[in-house]
Amino acid sequence: MQRPYNFAPGPAALPQPVLEQAAAEMLDWQGAGMSVMEVSHRSAAFEEMHNRSLDNLRKLLKLPDDFTILYLQGGASGHNAAIPMNICAPDDVANMVITGAWSVKSAKDAQPYCQVHEAANAKTADGGFLHVPEFASWDLKPAAMTLICSNETVHGVQFPEFPDVASHDAGALVVDCSSDILSRPFDWSKIGVAFGGAQKNIGPAGLALVIIRKDLLGKAQAITPRVWNYQTAHDANSLHHTPSTYGIYLAGLVFDWLLEQGGVDAIEQINNQKAALLYDYIDQSSMYENRVQVPYRSKMNIPFFLADEALNAEFLAQSVDAGLLNLRGHRSVGGMRASIYNSMPLAGVQALVAFMQEFERTH
Ligand SMILES: *Cc1c(COP(=O)(O)O)cnc(C)c1O
Repeated sequence: MQRPYNFAPGPAALPQPVLEQAAAEMLDWQGAGMSVMEVSHRSAAFEEMHNRSLDNLRKLLKLPDDFTILYLQGGASGHNAAIPMNICAPDDVANMVITGAWSVKSAKDAQPYCQVHEAANAKTADGGFLHVPEFASWDLKPAAMTLICSNETVHGVQFPEFPDVASHDAGALVVDCSSDILSRPFDWSKIGVAFGGAQKNIGPAGLALVIIRKDLLGKAQAITPRVWNYQTAHDANSLHHTPSTYGIYLAGLVFDWLLEQGGVDAIEQINNQKAALLYDYIDQSSMYENRVQVPYRSKMNIPFFLADEALNAEFLAQSVDAGLLNLRGHRSVGGMRASIYNSMPLAGVQALVAFMQEFERTH
């Protein structure tokens, strides 16, 4: 079955083989006579699957032993609050580096639990975001943490590499990597906490991941709900309470699929190819434009504008007819956005570019 290509920013497309396997196992998972959703999270079969997914994720991330992976709930947004609750005292400073809509929200959500300090803000005069400010220009205070968003999903701005904030006494680097985890290798020597919702590049909504260096555990503020205390989650192997069981199952299938593709290094090559194809086409075209400064352009979320915005509705209607779904840009940015996560095949981006070419030719 040829399905349309889904360019949604999140919840986003999942690899077709993963969906096929999930469908085939829906009524009878591993001979249990029931779906994985109906199985106890305390059963041996579930726990085996749970541990396998954690091991495979660790392998894919090339994660050092001094980090633990926590499967939690509450989305990335919940952990905007839970991270400062877990690693800051109320009077500790948290540096915030604002490069788009999601880091704006992180700073706001952290406010009740620490002393938020805006170390950099890349907002343009007209309210957009087009770059990551030079590291040397950041106003870093001595802090318990410094937060960045590695890939701003709404604005299409991505950190090419992670800053070394430890050398500036700026605490643990906290990275919201909701929309680029597993799309490229991460330098864990720079990171204290990486976190995100699963629904962009990993699996279904409902599962959230916190990957935290173990020396940062055990510092939670007294008000921290126990379900969001990272030490509690770590001690219980993320099974302190009922986790997002179906989310963990699907994430595990995605990790199997990713290992079959050759892991993160291999998928990064394809992601680079996909992004280059679309940006190269946009840059040579007189009809389309991406405004993000070249070194900071996202390889996952590519916003673009039509020179004549009056054609937006027609572009969107015709793209749906061509089997290309969810290209409308975020309401705060306008225009179009193509989200091309790991699960988007090169053929999907080729189909998009062919459609854009044809639309340009006929308009
Ligand atoms: C989608 C997204 C979020 C919000 O995730 P929720 O799971 O809805 O809370 C946060 N940060 C980034 C970078 C995102 O892309």
